[in-house]
Amino acid sequence: MKIENHQLKNIVIIGCGFSGALTCVNLIKNQQLSNCNIYLIEKKNEIPKGLAYSTDTNLHLLNVPVKNMSALEADQNDFLEYCRLKWDKKCNIDELKNYYLPRAFYGDYLKELVNESIKNSQIKVNLIKNEVLNIIPDLQNNYKVILAKGDTINANYIVMAPGNLDYGNPHITNKDFFNSPLYVQNPWDKARLAKVNKNEAVLIIGTAQTAIDIALVLNDQGLKQPIYMMSRHGLVSQPHTQEATQAMGTGQSFGLTLDTLSKNILTALKQVRSAITKVKDWRLVIDSLRPITQAYWASLTLTEKHRFTRHVQVIWDIHRHRLAMVVARDIDKLIKNQSVKILAGRLVNITQTNNLAHIQYKLRHHDSIEELTVGTVINCTGPNFNLNSLTNPLLKNLSKDGFIVPNELGVSIKTDNIYNVVNSKNEVLKNVFVLGPILKPQLFETVAIPELRKQTQIVANKVKDLILEEVKITAN
Ligand SMILES: Cc1cc2nc3c(=O)[nH]c(=O)nc-3n(C[C@H](O)[C@H](O)[C@H](O)COP(=O)(O)OP(=O)(O)OC[C@H]3O[C@@H](n4cnc5c(N)ncnc54)[C@H](O)[C@@H]3O)c2cc1C
Repeated sequence: MKIENHQLKNIVIIGCGFSGALTCVNLIKNQQLSNCNIYLIEKKNEIPKGLAYSTDTNLHLLNVPVKNMSALEADQNDFLEYCRLKWDKKCNIDELKNYYLPRAFYGDYLKELVNESIKNSQIKVNLIKNEVLNIIPDLQNNYKVILAKGDTINANYIVMAPGNLDYGNPHITNKDFFNSPLYVQNPWDKARLAKVNKNEAVLIIGTAQTAIDIALVLNDQGLKQPIYMMSRHGLVSQPHTQEATQAMGTGQSFGLTLDTLSKNILTALKQVRSAITKVKDWRLVIDSLRPITQAYWASLTLTEKHRFTRHVQVIWDIHRHRLAMVVARDIDKLIKNQSVKILAGRLVNITQTNNLAHIQYKLRHHDSIEELTVGTVINCTGPNFNLNSLTNPLLKNLSKDGFIVPNELGVSIKTDNIYNVVNSKNEVLKNVFVLGPILKPQLFETVAIPELRKQTQIVANKVKDLILEEVKITAN
């Protein structure tokens, strides 16, 4: 059944990184839909590369192997096929599957996939470079989408894919420092990074993947002084290995299933540690948990979720979110030759005199205050999920109007189990969806492509079903 012209529906997708763009592709691929209007609205990044794949340096590699990076849930070899044609043609396919390729190359893949889909689409796709500031519902469950330049779009369906949230500022006494030209709040601001003073040391707040990406870029720019990287535990993401990469997706469970894994998080940790003692590479056990992680997280009580965040999260993150081997080798080299120095400690304050930032911090397990002077401070603290302190104008406005509310953990956006927004009156907004990394607090695994591609297909199917259902009702 095709939808007739007079039943034209407007689908507005807000944010056009991977999640927004691939929801659009999945809608387009659906042969039952035609004569809908899709509006893809993106405020600043290149469509559809988003934050992660807009990088232009080959120092930034994917942290997931080729075999798991297809953008399409329905065709899981799509990226592998693209690589076979566009990467080194002489590469053996079994080796290629397990490569960690540049993120910029993946960005090109996404661009070709999305452009090609839009070009061949029966559905009209309108690409709009603008920022969505608010969404106003009417009494018929339709919406007015308010844009920054004063325009509005009427929407029947809305998919919010706002992506990786702003990085929160670190906790220091002197909040004025956040306005200092020596402070880089957004580590992905390429123009600002290019201007970092090469003759002074740099402090990167954070030691995870973003911090490592930034350290590699600064080193490449010829920094003459050390880069300090600081986090509470001073733990750096672990590397992948060839063996564990080859084993990914083979379905081994090491006795850890949804039924056997304790719902007490500390007991579960012991079970995982015990399983690790029986294998050659701990990564095999960590990777075996991936297919059940979302369901396991959903099965935990609030108390256990909080306990995980307090006691396990740091250690989980550096083992689960690993570095491509080449990246791990490069950062290791910089640590060994003292170009990068890792500090396990807590920031206390930062002040500025002339063109220098003076850092006060306490080393882990020490009470005395240490001092450090640098030319630039770069914030790599990770996304902030607290709706009350977000700077994204859309989310701020929606939160103020009660259109969105935090989830049971007091953060992120409350949704039902198929990505529908639940508002402050506890009503499920069945025509409004949210997906992507913003849902991390409730879904736990919702940042990387293997999970996101599934979400984009589920949401696109749900929108299609709703449209077909409405058409049926109208026809009857
Ligand atoms: C540096 C980095 C590296 C990564 N590497 C990998 C990897 O190797 N493998 C992997 O599987 N995953 C990786 N990830 C995970 C990554 O988050 C996802 O793969 C994916 O890019 C998220 O896509 P998204 O569309 O949800 O978010 P984003 O890419 O952040 O896109 C959201 C878009 O929405 C726009 N937007 C927000 N609000 C509005 C508004 N109000 N109006 C209009 N536009 C708006 C933003 O400008 C942005 O472009 C990485 C993530 C990062 C940050």
